[in-house]
Amino acid sequence: MTINATDKIQEALKERAHDESRPFCYSDYITVTPNEDGQAFCPKCGSDDLMREVEGVGVEYGYEWVMEHIVKEDGERVDIEDMHRDLLDEIYPAVKFGELEYSASHVLETIDPTAFNMGANEYADSMVEEGQLIELNGDYYRLDGITE
Ligand SMILES: [Zn+2]
Repeated sequence: MTINATDKIQEALKERAHDESRPFCYSDYITVTPNEDGQAFCPKCGSDDLMREVEGVGVEYGYEWVMEHIVKEDGERVDIEDMHRDLLDEIYPAVKFGELEYSASHVLETIDPTAFNMGANEYADSMVEEGQLIELNGDYYRLDGITE
C-alpha cells in the first residue's frame, strides 16, 4: 500500500473511491450500472470481474488507484518542513546575540539539517498516526472531510 493513513481514513477513502468510480467491463469496454442490490454484472458478458472507471481519468482494477487519485486531486499538500518550523518556533524561544535574533527553527535547520529533517519526518508521521495527515508516496496531504 502506497497510501499511509489510519484504518479509519483508509476506510473513508475507499468509500469515497467507491462513490466516485463506476464498475467497468474491460472485455466489452463498457461502464456497468449496478443493480438494486448494488451488485454489478456486465450486461453483455455477465462477468462480475470488473474494473473501476473514473470518467476522464482511467480504468483499472481495484480501489487503490482511485484513492490515490482522490488524495492528489482533492487533497491539500502539506509542506512538512514549514509545519515543523512553525512547531519549533512555537516551542522554543528565539536565540539572541545582543541585537541579533535567530528563530529556533532557523538555528536548528542551519546547524543540523539532518536533525531538522528527521524531526520534520517524525512530526509528520505522528500526524499520520493521529489521522491528521495522509501520506502518499512520501508526500503529505490534508483532505477535507477525511483527515481530522
Ligand atoms: Zn463484459
